[in-house]
Amino acid sequence: CGIVGVLGQHEAAPLLVEALKRLEYRGYDSAGIATVNNGLLDRRRAVGKLVNLSDLLVHEPLAGKSGIGHTRWATHGAPTVTNAHPHRAGRVAVVHNGIIENYKELREELAAKGKSFVTETDTETVALLTEAAMDEGLAPRAAVAQVLSRLNGAFALCFLFEGEEDLMIAARKGSPLAVGHGKGEMYVGSDAIALSPMTNQITYLEEGDSAVLTRTSLQIFDVDGNQTNRPVKTIQIEA
Ligand code: GLU
Repeated sequence: CGIVGVLGQHEAAPLLVEALKRLEYRGYDSAGIATVNNGLLDRRRAVGKLVNLSDLLVHEPLAGKSGIGHTRWATHGAPTVTNAHPHRAGRVAVVHNGIIENYKELREELAAKGKSFVTETDTETVALLTEAAMDEGLAPRAAVAQVLSRLNGAFALCFLFEGEEDLMIAARKGSPLAVGHGKGEMYVGSDAIALSPMTNQITYLEEGDSAVLTRTSLQIFDVDGNQTNRPVKTIQIEA
């Protein structure tokens, strides 16, 4: 339901939770964040309000300056911790808004390859497919591009990778996504309002776009995979 991402200069967890709070108005049943710290991917998830995630983070902090976060409105699978995002498969963590319509076919294909599932979500197929592509030797960007070409439905996605503290990949098809520009920082949000504590410099992804972000760069590819430019806008931030 809500997506945020941070490649920052400071601890990401509090920024992610703050950004997710700004998306609470959309409604949600669970929430979670993942970070990369010293190369290692880790995550925390909680059912219910964001305060439950914040409380969990007090007891089990999550360090790291790069992270993704999500508030979930369950469409596939009950609102449980296991089904909460970020979803993880090996080196890949992903948050997802929307629905992967062909997830059953993709699940069958993955099961035939010996992959096992721990969640009931459509989203887990995206994590597993990306991991499978990376296991075949593809770099994160090529792996995500290959996976995107196989997904049907309306979605926004944001990926984080183990061993990659300066890389985030985002994509949108039928669900909005904005990139925020900071000073040596980059952000992703399903709504620019989520990024308002951090920046008012926003690039809106267009339909079918995917984006490869580092702290200091943004590359955008259109639906045909051609690199393209989208404008940076200064937005008016509402209180
Ligand atoms: N379809 C996904 C799920 O049920 C994402 C739902 C959402 O947009 O929050 O986990």
